[in-house]
Amino acid sequence: MLPDQKENILGSSVTKKILRLLEPLKRSESGDSIFAYIEQTLCSAETHSQEIEQTYAGLLRLLLDTLARQLANGSPLQVQLKLLEVRLSPPFATTDLAELKRFLDAHVDDIARGVRECDDVIELSLAPLLESFTNKKSEPAVAELVSAADEETIADTAPDYNYPATPPERRVDSSYRRHLDEKRQGIQRIQQALANQASACIKNNQSIGTMLEKELEILQQANSQQDLIVAREQLIGETQALLTEHRIIASKLLETQQFLGVIESDSQQLSDELTRIHLLSLTDDLTGLPNRRAFLRRLQDEVGRVQRYGNPLSLALIDLDGFKAVNDKLGHAAGDEVLRVIAAEILSIFRHHDLVARYGGEEFAVLLPNTHIEGALRALRKVQKRAQETNFQYDGNSIPLPTFSSGLTLFRPGESPEAIIQRADHALYRAKQLGRNRIEFDRAEVASSTSTSISTA
Ligand code: GH3
Ligand code: MG
Ligand code: MG
Repeated sequence: MLPDQKENILGSSVTKKILRLLEPLKRSESGDSIFAYIEQTLCSAETHSQEIEQTYAGLLRLLLDTLARQLANGSPLQVQLKLLEVRLSPPFATTDLAELKRFLDAHVDDIARGVRECDDVIELSLAPLLESFTNKKSEPAVAELVSAADEETIADTAPDYNYPATPPERRVDSSYRRHLDEKRQGIQRIQQALANQASACIKNNQSIGTMLEKELEILQQANSQQDLIVAREQLIGETQALLTEHRIIASKLLETQQFLGVIESDSQQLSDELTRIHLLSLTDDLTGLPNRRAFLRRLQDEVGRVQRYGNPLSLALIDLDGFKAVNDKLGHAAGDEVLRVIAAEILSIFRHHDLVARYGGEEFAVLLPNTHIEGALRALRKVQKRAQETNFQYDGNSIPLPTFSSGLTLFRPGESPEAIIQRADHALYRAKQLGRNRIEFDRAEVASSTSTSISTA
């Protein structure tokens, strides 16, 4: 073996580690020759395996390059092939090699034919390889899922109102979120399995160290030449067995480490994506307020809390009066501006632990935890006063904000979230019927309320 070749091989961390473990052998003359023998065996095994890997890598690159050249520049399949080429460079994991071998055995004819024919055939022939290494089939591309989600309407964010739909890139349906959640859980499971594998490898590695120490002791205690010969034989046998095991472990560790790296960044990306999507799905684009979905979730939480602790919980539905006329007279953009101003300058006077949400087109919902009906009424009146005093600027004109009607209710122990919404809705309907610009209670509350002035028309 050439000195620089040996130098190169000795650079391999596995070989280096083993030789470092066997270093004490060099202290005696016979041990030194055993060491030299092991070193040589190790080096030639490494060379052999590196040669095989290089050959595979060369062939593979040639094959993938040839195939990629047949495809349209920048086509998705060509990009996938390039990525595969990067992924499949030495050092190979044993599983990679086995997979490649299996693929080549089974599909070499198809590929040769594909190169001569057309893209479809290439794609067909490559499908098993791409599937093995990129999970192409089992995991639909994120872009595909997003566009599939875009085509669906999300009924629960925009129920009966015909205001502009959320832009497609912002729309995310629950099946997509479920998919991402499942994917994240899958990755976490693999991560856990790999971490277990890594710790098993480390344990194994420690027991190899112990065995080596034992062998060394036997060698040191050998008295006669016969003892040494026996010990030498034993040592060679044991060392070879250990060596094999050590290499397997080292390659597993390396593989694990690489996998963990890939998976960690994948998992992080998914988590970020999920958080982003989660926030988008709970926020109204136009006003920046929590949307109907966010409101319903919070209502459910608050109802659960009220059932446990018995605190009061008030709910107000607010609907702008004659809003259609604003749109008709001033245009849709002005209507949008009104909604923004109401959210930012009017409804913002509710306390920060009250939840103000855009419930639908020109309808808002306010949840007031720990608040009795009287407190909620006071807050609504303040809001009403502020709205009356505020003008919005549009096209150089200062225009009064529209008035609003509101239906107010207090949660009744044992009732469902749907029931309280329905009662608030009935009260709101009555406020409209009775002439608008007023706050109405649910009838049962009127009977038990201490407040005499319930309408503020
Ligand atoms: P009422 O007093 O009975 O509530 O009358 P209204 O005109 O407010 O109610 P109606 O339900 O007849 O009309 C609501 C209007 O609100 C129609 C709809 O186009 C408009 N709208 C809903 N969402 C938006 C939005 O996001 N932007 C704008 N500009 N208009 C919206
Ligand atoms: Mg209205
Ligand atoms: Mg309405």
